[in-house]
Amino acid sequence: MCGIVGYTGKKQCRDILVNSLRKLEYRGYDSAGIAVMEDGHIKTVKAKGKINDGLIVKLSESGELNAVTGIGHTRWATHGEPSDINSHPIGNSRVSIVHNGIIENYRKLKNFLIGKGYKFESETDTEAAAKLIDYYYNGDPVDAISKAVTDIEGAYSLGIIFRDFPDMIYAVRKDSPLIVGIGDGEMYIASDMTALLEYTKKYYLLDTGEIASISAKGAVICDLHGNKINKEVQTATWDVSEAEKGGFEHFMLKEIHEQPAAVRKTISPRIKDGLPCFDECGLTDEMIRGYKHIYIIACGSAMHAGLIGKYIIESLARTPVIVDIASEFRYRNPLLTADDLVVIVSQSGETADTKAALELANEVGADTLALVNVVGSSIAREAKMVMYTYAGPEISVASTKAYMVQSAFMYLLAFRVALARGRITEEECRELVAKLETMPDLIAECLSDLDPYRRSASRLVGADSLLYIGRGLDYALSMEGSLKLKEISYIHSESYAAGELKHGTISLIDDGMPVIAVATQRDLLAKTISNMREVKTRGAYVIAVCPKGVSIDSESADDIIEIPSADDMFMPLVAVVPLQLVAYYASVLRGNDVDKPRNLAKSVTVE
Ligand code: GLU
Repeated sequence: MCGIVGYTGKKQCRDILVNSLRKLEYRGYDSAGIAVMEDGHIKTVKAKGKINDGLIVKLSESGELNAVTGIGHTRWATHGEPSDINSHPIGNSRVSIVHNGIIENYRKLKNFLIGKGYKFESETDTEAAAKLIDYYYNGDPVDAISKAVTDIEGAYSLGIIFRDFPDMIYAVRKDSPLIVGIGDGEMYIASDMTALLEYTKKYYLLDTGEIASISAKGAVICDLHGNKINKEVQTATWDVSEAEKGGFEHFMLKEIHEQPAAVRKTISPRIKDGLPCFDECGLTDEMIRGYKHIYIIACGSAMHAGLIGKYIIESLARTPVIVDIASEFRYRNPLLTADDLVVIVSQSGETADTKAALELANEVGADTLALVNVVGSSIAREAKMVMYTYAGPEISVASTKAYMVQSAFMYLLAFRVALARGRITEEECRELVAKLETMPDLIAECLSDLDPYRRSASRLVGADSLLYIGRGLDYALSMEGSLKLKEISYIHSESYAAGELKHGTISLIDDGMPVIAVATQRDLLAKTISNMREVKTRGAYVIAVCPKGVSIDSESADDIIEIPSADDMFMPLVAVVPLQLVAYYASVLRGNDVDKPRNLAKSVTVE
C-alpha cells in the first residue's frame, strides 16, 4: 500500500515522477504528491484524490518546475483521512519524506518532538518520522536517518530529500518493499519495479535495515551502523507492455484475458516427464510423506485459491489441509508443529499479515513454501522454499490472473502429494496432469463471447444485495465470485454453502433478489438444483453457472451461463471466469473505477 518513487539525474523529474506514480496508483489513490529540489529549495505539490483528479490539476496551476531531483507518493491512508494536508511528501523546509507503512509509536515520537518545540500540521504517523529525521539532522543525512530509524517502531519504507543535498535522494527500508533503480547517469527509487519498467530493468533490492544514498552516478548502500553493503544488481523479467493496458478498457479485463497464458507459463515449467516436479524449490517426496498436515495461509483471493487446494489435496491425497486467513492464523496460537508444511500464498509477496504468518511458521520450525508472483519479494526470501507464479504484473486491484495461477498451482501440488503418498499411480498422475494442461484452452473458450456475462451483470446492477451459492468446490468458488463482485461493484453479496441457506440465510430472499448458483459439480448437482428451487420459489432471480451438457430447467434458474465442460475437479478454473466477468461488467455498468475500487489498494503492506 502506498507507492513511493524518486528520481535524480539530468532530466526534468516532474513527468518521470508522475508517470512512475501512475504505475503505482494501484497501491493507493487517496492522494498523490511530489517534492522536488528547485533552486536550492524543496517545493511540494500534493493533493487529495487520484493523480488525475488532484495532483495533475495542482501541478498545472503551479506552473513549470525546474528540477532534476525529487520524490513522489501515492497514498492509501492509514493514519489521518485522505486530505491535502495529510498527503505526502511531508516535512519542512529542510527535509521531506514519502512513506509506505505504519509508524506504530508515532504518538510517543510526536509528544517527544512537541516537547522539543516541533509543531505538527497533519494527522499522519508519517509526520513524526519526518520531524524526527529533522531533529537528528546535523549535516549528515545518513546519521540522522539511522538515529531516527533506531527510534521508529513499525514496518515502513521511506524516500527522503534534504535541502542541503539537492542532488541526492535517500531511502531506507524496514519490511515495506523498496528498490533502487539503476539508469544510465540517473537513478530511481520505487516501491516496486512496475513503476520503473519504462526507464530501466536494473535495480538493487533494499533489505530491512539498509539505507541508500543515491546520486545520479549510483547508490551507496549501508547498514544502520554505516557499514557499506555490496548489493547484487537484479534484472526485472517483466516487460513494460505487461504493465500497460494494451488496448483493453481496463487492466482487469486485460488481466482476465491473460489467464490462459499465465496458467501455461506457471504450470509448464513444473511438469517433467508428464509429472508435477518440485525440484526447483527442494520439496521432495520424502518430505511430503513426513508432513502431518498442510496449512495454506493467505488473505483475500489468495486464500480462496487455498480453499480450492484444500478440496483437491484432501480428496486426492487424503492429507488434512487447514486453510487459514493470515490475520487470524497469526493471532490464534495455531496447532502448528515442525512436522507440518505451511504453504504461504501472496501475489505481491509483501502482504503484511501473510508475512507475519510465515515468520510464525518459520519460528515453529515448520517447512514453509512460498507461492508468490513478485520475484525477490519479502515472502519469497523468508520462506524455506519458494515457487513463483508467472502471472506477470497484476495492476488491477481486484485479483484475477494471480488467483487463477495460484489455483492452477494447487492442482500440481495436490497431484504430487497424492503421488508421493501412494494415493495415485504414476499413470493416474500423468492423466491428471494432461487434463490440467488442457485447461488454458477451456479458459480461453470462456473468453470468446463476453455478451452473456454483460447480460447477467445487467440483472445485478440495481440490486442492493445478492447471494452466491454452491456446494463443495463450487462453494469455494462462490466465495471468490462474491468477493470479486463486492470489491469492484460495491453491491453487497454473501457466499453461502447451498445446503446451509435454510438454517437462517434464506429469510433474506425477497422478490427479485439475485442468487448466483455455481453448479459445476455433477456429483452434487441434484442437491444444488434443489437449493436453487428453494430460493426461486421464494422469489429469487437465479443465475446458474454450469457446464455445457448439464440441463437445468426453468423452474430452477432464470438465466444460465454455460461454460465449457471439464472433469468436476477442474471446473473451478473455468467457472471462475464468468464470475470475474459478471463482477467486471457490474462495476462498469455502475460507472465505477474498475481498476481502482474505493477504499482499497493492492499489495496490502499494513496489518
Ligand atoms: N501511514 C501512512 C499514511 O497514512 C502511509 C500509509 C501506507 O503506506 O499505506 O499516510
